[in-house]
Amino acid sequence: MTTATQTATDKAEYIREYHRNWRKANPEKVAAYRLCYKDSSSAYIRKWKADNPERVREHSRKHAELHPESRPARQKKWMQANPEKSRARCQARKARKANADGKHYTTAENIIARWAVYDNKCWMCGAKALCTDHVKPLSKGGAHYPANLRPSCTSCNCKKASKWPFPTTIKAWAVGQ
Ligand SMILES: [Zn+2]
Repeated sequence: MTTATQTATDKAEYIREYHRNWRKANPEKVAAYRLCYKDSSSAYIRKWKADNPERVREHSRKHAELHPESRPARQKKWMQANPEKSRARCQARKARKANADGKHYTTAENIIARWAVYDNKCWMCGAKALCTDHVKPLSKGGAHYPANLRPSCTSCNCKKASKWPFPTTIKAWAVGQ
C-alpha cells in the first residue's frame, strides 16, 4: 500500500470512527432519523418498533390527534364503524400471508353468512362468537373459502390454535375437559 493510499484509508477510517461514536452518543437521534427515512433500513425499523411498542403507540396516538384526517385516524374510525368488514379484511390478510386457497375469494358478506349458519355462536362451545375460526388451520394448509370458516369465541380459538386434525371430542375438549 502506498503512503497516499494509506493516508486516504486512515482518513476514511477516521471518518467512519467519528460517525460510529456520534451514533453511539446520540441513539435517540439515530432512531428518529431511521424512523423518518424508512427505506434506508426497514429491518432496523421493524426491530426498533418491536422493541419500543409504547413509543410506537404514543407516536401514532399523537399523530392521530394532530392529524384527525390522517390515514391511521380515518382507518380507526372506519374499523369502528365496520367491525365485520374490518375483521374480514384482517382474516383475508392472514390468509394471503399463508398463501391459502380462497384468499381473494371470500368477502365480508360470505363471512357474515357463515356466522348466521351458526347463529353467531361459537361452533365449539356455543358461547357468543367473537372471531372467525379457520377449521382447518391456515398453517396446516387450510383454505380461506367460506366452507372452512366458522364463528368461534376467542377462548376456543386460542385453545384450538393450529391443532390439526381436530380432536374428535370437540365439545368436551372445548370446555376444557
Ligand atoms: Zn367457544
